[in-house]
Parts: sequence; structure tokens; C-alpha cells
Amino acid sequence: MTTEKLSLQNQKVFDLLSRSKTPLSAYEILDKLRKHGVRSPPTVYRALEKLQQMGLVHRVETLNAFVVCRHVCGKPHGGVSPFAICTSCGAVQELCEPTLARALKKLGAEFLAEVGHKIFEVSGICHACQSKKITHV
Ligand SMILES: [Zn+2]
Ligand SMILES: [Zn+2]
Repeated sequence: MTTEKLSLQNQKVFDLLSRSKTPLSAYEILDKLRKHGVRSPPTVYRALEKLQQMGLVHRVETLNAFVVCRHVCGKPHGGVSPFAICTSCGAVQELCEPTLARALKKLGAEFLAEVGHKIFEVSGICHACQSKKITHV
């Protein structure tokens, strides 16, 4: 984590993502920030890039959307931010599993000379949605 201060635009994007229960695409972020004076797509893209570099925001690749880091175990990510995605309500949970980064790197290295982007995402129905379904029956 860095102590670098966020610019106003970056702070607006970060605050919006912090308040959102589900990941937001760059387009949705732009749409919601329009009334707060953020009008150009490059501003949003730059902010997202910066926030990702700072480790405050992650991209959920399979959704092409962004979430704030809610990594709670305190251990380093190791270059991978695994996510569980509920396909019913759209909620996303960041998983804390430091061994995963090592495993992905090791397995990838069997084929790749150089391991770059490591992605691990699992989707399904979350516990909250599942229990709602059961009570409705
Ligand atoms: Zn994280
Ligand atoms: Zn759900």
C-alpha cells in the first residue's frame, strides 16, 4: 500500500467503486460520474490505470469491470487477485489465497518461458442468492 495522495478525479473513481456492491465497467463509471464533473473517457481510463497500479482497484477480467481491493488477509497478492463471481446478483468476492499465485506461476512456467498476467476467477451462485432461492421454494 502506498501513501501517495489521490488526485481529485482518481478519488472520485475510487469512491464510486467503494460504494458499489458489484463491479463497474469503465463505461458505467463514466456514466455515474458525469454529474460530478467527470466527462471524458480518458480521465476515467487514466484513473483506473493509476488505481490499479497503486493496488487499490482490480480488474475482473471475465466481466471487464473494476472493483476496489477488499483483500483482507493482509498477505501480499503475489501478482494475482483471485475472484469468486456470483452470476445471479453480480457480487464479487476477492479471495485470499497466496499459494494460488505461486501455483499459477509454477504451472504457467511449464509452458511459458516468461509468466505475465495471472488470472484466477471462479463463477457460480453465491450463498446469499442460494439461500434466497431455497426460502422461495
Ligand atoms: Zn486486492
Ligand atoms: Zn449472488
